[in-house]
Amino acid sequence: MRNVVIGGVAAGMSAASQAKRRMPNAEVIVLERGDHVSYGACGMPYNIEDPQRDILDLVVITPAEFRHTRGIDVRTRHEVLSIRAAQREIEVRDHVAGHNYLQGYDRLVIATGAEAVRPPIPGIDLPGVFLLRDLADGDAIKRFIDETGPQRAVIIGAGYIGMEMADVLNRRGLAVSVLERAQQVLPGFEPVIAGIVLDELHRHDVKVETGVAVLGVERTGQGLLVRTDRGETAADLILVSAGIRPNVALARSAGARLGEHGAIAVDTRQGTSLADIYAAGDCAEAFHRVLSKPAYVPLGTTANKQGRVAGANAAGGDEHFAGIVGTAGFRVFDLEVARTGVGAAEISSHGLDAISVVSRHASRGHHFPGSGRITTVVFAERDSGRLLGAQMVGADTVAKRVDIFATALHARMSVADVESLDLSYAPPFAPVYDPVLIAARVARKALSGHH
Ligand code: FAD
Ligand code: NAD
Repeated sequence: MRNVVIGGVAAGMSAASQAKRRMPNAEVIVLERGDHVSYGACGMPYNIEDPQRDILDLVVITPAEFRHTRGIDVRTRHEVLSIRAAQREIEVRDHVAGHNYLQGYDRLVIATGAEAVRPPIPGIDLPGVFLLRDLADGDAIKRFIDETGPQRAVIIGAGYIGMEMADVLNRRGLAVSVLERAQQVLPGFEPVIAGIVLDELHRHDVKVETGVAVLGVERTGQGLLVRTDRGETAADLILVSAGIRPNVALARSAGARLGEHGAIAVDTRQGTSLADIYAAGDCAEAFHRVLSKPAYVPLGTTANKQGRVAGANAAGGDEHFAGIVGTAGFRVFDLEVARTGVGAAEISSHGLDAISVVSRHASRGHHFPGSGRITTVVFAERDSGRLLGAQMVGADTVAKRVDIFATALHARMSVADVESLDLSYAPPFAPVYDPVLIAARVARKALSGHH
């Protein structure tokens, strides 16, 4: 039995490790076109923040360790050029030796991930303009900061990476400006949440322009210049964090079915439409339990879990991925921001009849030191009272509170069910009525007001 995995990050290495564990005598080969495998991309912002840390600290297991201690044949700088599903073979470019070869497989896992979007803006390829997707990108940004001492950064795109990196670059001493095309920062969040984040950015002297079109980047005698439809901003370092798109070219040309979001369509066993070919991670869709249909919510947490399922099944198992509810969180300066379930955009695009309520509550017991204010938005279905989503922002214990809502969504609970949960209370970590319970109560009352 020979299992071949394409891509060596979260989904790929989870699949390879699981396949080898299930079937120790099987041959497991990982083909990765880059130099590194098995690293925590999610840790890159915090590594860049710390000048003392080596970027390679993010590598969990090296290719040599995989080969010698786990018996997994990891081949870096090996790029898969095509999949010949009928012949059960793939064409590989060995960039080290400089030749191509054909590799046969019994079962194949596609874990090709996603790539950062590079908007078609003149000058976007100039030196000093960076993306942040893989370890090589993180290394390049860190070296640039260490070696050239940039003073001014412009970040294009105020999503997850833009927010995390505004914080990190500010901590590294750069003056940061953020340019966002949408009318608010974090377009995936409710305006009330985005407004609190905007205040936090301003409190740390981060300049923000929303509803702005970036027209071009130029090099001048004083560094780089970003031209927009409103004016110009000078920069020494530009970070483009304008979203990602799934890497599906290989799968598509092999004939695998893509879903409506453009990522590879998979069943609950991570099987694709092609026999003995599985897909997992940022290249694939995932079943969304709130919408009861496939969605594209590319995250490391999902990539790891889907990879594990794909690897187990490639090795003859029968594992199923339970699906997602769309949970993500991040930190920006002193705030935690997180969401789960669906938000206003998905509610309207799926024609759901829902209400949303906003509540504000303390994070800890009355007068307890360190208590902060948490703002919560809850979405609930009007007729059934079912919880549809929640978003939270605050200085304290927000992300893990959103996980309570995520658990409730997984179990298809109503807001009344959430309101009656038995959550822990002691002043150091919660008020008598937890902000989660208060938010659910406000939603339940708003719903009953409609009847
Ligand atoms: P990828 O990480 O994209 O890996 C795919 C690999 O496949 C790549 O190494 C690529 O070189 C290789 N490949 C592609 N095509 C070929 C080919 N033809 N031949 C050979 N190899 C190929 N997620 C969270 O859940 N929480 C977080 O806090 C979080 N923070 C993040 C912070 C940053 C800065 C970034 C960039 C991402 C973050 N994410 C986070 C997202 C998370 O990193 C991704 O969801 C995860 O890396 C996806 O893993 P993957 O293996 O599916 O794909
Ligand atoms: P994103 O989709 O979160 O944000 C992209 C932002 O760029 C959006 O606000 C969009 O409106 C804006 N944008 C797009 N084109 C633009 C343009 N031409 N000019 C100005 N703004 C533009 O994507 P990202 O921040 O690049 O992150 C990539 C992926 O990594 C995401 O899918 C995210 O899930 C993942 N990630 C997750 C975490 C986390 O969970 N903590 C952290 C970082 C990254």
